[in-house]
Amino acid sequence: MSHPVSPAAGAAVSARACAPAQRVVLAGGSPADRQWVSELLRSGSSWDCEFLEAESGEAVLRQVQATACATERILLAGPLADMDALRLLALLAGPQGIPPCPVVVITPGNGRELGPVLLRAGAQDYIGEDWLSPFVLARAVDNARVRWAMERELRERDLALQRSEACAREADLRKDEFLATLAHELRNPLAPIRNGLEILRRSGPLTGPAQEARDMMERQLGHMVRLVDDLLDVSRISRGKVDLRLARITLQSVLDHALESSRPAIEGGCHRLMLHAPREPLWVEGDLTRLAQVVSNLLNNAAKYTPAGGCIELRALAQDGCVVIEVADNGTGICADMLPRVFDLFAQVDRTRERAQGGLGIGLSLVKKLVELHGGDIRAHSEGPSRGSRFTVRLPRADAPGPLSAREAGVPPYAAPVARRRVLVCDDNVDGADSLALMLELLGHEVRTVHDGSQALATVDQWRPEVALLDIGLPGLSGYELAQRLRADPALAGLVLVAVTGWGTESDQRRSAQAGFDVHLTKPVEAGALEAVLARPARRPARAD
Ligand code: ADP
Repeated sequence: MSHPVSPAAGAAVSARACAPAQRVVLAGGSPADRQWVSELLRSGSSWDCEFLEAESGEAVLRQVQATACATERILLAGPLADMDALRLLALLAGPQGIPPCPVVVITPGNGRELGPVLLRAGAQDYIGEDWLSPFVLARAVDNARVRWAMERELRERDLALQRSEACAREADLRKDEFLATLAHELRNPLAPIRNGLEILRRSGPLTGPAQEARDMMERQLGHMVRLVDDLLDVSRISRGKVDLRLARITLQSVLDHALESSRPAIEGGCHRLMLHAPREPLWVEGDLTRLAQVVSNLLNNAAKYTPAGGCIELRALAQDGCVVIEVADNGTGICADMLPRVFDLFAQVDRTRERAQGGLGIGLSLVKKLVELHGGDIRAHSEGPSRGSRFTVRLPRADAPGPLSAREAGVPPYAAPVARRRVLVCDDNVDGADSLALMLELLGHEVRTVHDGSQALATVDQWRPEVALLDIGLPGLSGYELAQRLRADPALAGLVLVAVTGWGTESDQRRSAQAGFDVHLTKPVEAGALEAVLARPARRPARAD
């Protein structure tokens, strides 16, 4: 380093009298370089400096460690004996990317090439040797402190942001898990209620108010089951646990299925329904049940948010390589600031009013997720309060028609006639077990109920049922373990094992199949599904006699 300029004691010197001395580690270069730089800084700065010298990078690290908080700056005056400036900066900055105190590097020449690299490596400033003067050096060293403090603050904010993002993700995950558990727990009490209603229906005709009360309970139960299913669906989709059963289907079949389930809501509100769909079939690659759920959800909302006697339009058309489904109503409408948020989970336009309408604010969120899973999108449109609403779903159009799915073709899953069977029911929910047993007896079967796994094993051993309906969450032996034990006995090869549980995801179904179950039914089980299972031929003869 050449030392061309004589440091002149400047006016700054007078201001330093009362400022405390600041510790500067002066590193690299020759003793003469360090002497020269220290004099420059002393003469240019308004504060008192206490210089510590270090020839090597290792010595700098030792000084910083030894004086941790007290070191106020590191000034690299020239090449280090053991490493280059970038290596020292990497060691000082560590994984956080910020050194423990500001670092200023004096570079050879004008520093234009090396300077930016040093800044990216963690230095707070650099000065080309060519520009060295007391003023420039003092200003660089002062600015470095400000820049270092800002970098620290940014880093801390960044860390705080990362922490709160991690907390939000964690809370979101817990919410999804909670929703799944809640829905599952709600399904358990729904099961005996559904069984009870089915028993009433099959116990002979009711009359007058008794009939009306039963019908009302059935409607409300249906509503409750839908809410619980929506809750579960939304949490499953958020956790990526929904598999679509894709098939080539017509849009018309989607509309038919949706209309079938929404008709009671539309008729209940005395609304006029107008359907516009082209005659020629429009094909999409989709899951019929899920797409029907989308349209039916929109129709139910249209019926719910339109005063009695309103008008609902359902339209299907082809447009730009897509198929478009539009559900419009002339009801309450949606205000402009709420429109972008109606698809958010738990979003409701007017909570007090909506509470009176029922609902949790999950339907549209579910609809959007299902549409997106199909590669489509959905938009909401409204001119404002009392001006009606329009929801437009766009889905990719499929080119060529494929074969009809079994469900679309209306093929029933089992066609065998129902025979009288010996059925074991195992559920720790006593109401659930008893009501299921009663319903099975009404269907003409012979039934025994037990409430835990060991009772089930004993009853199977003595009584040799043909079908066992087992809950999964049992005290002691779980339903999975019970199934595995039963499957391990070759004498029970003919026993049909049916899981009857509140857990109904694809992975739950896989798990029960792995444990040896033949069928997986989700609570609350419909009588039709039970009848279908009991109509199946036995696996193999259950008894030698
Ligand atoms: P929910 O109906 O259970 O409250 P949704 O997710 O289905 O939940 O709908 C969210 C909100 O969007 C509703 O609370 C309602 O305010 C508004 N909304 C949905 N559909 C319509 C519609 N057709 N007309 C007016 N408002 C609607």
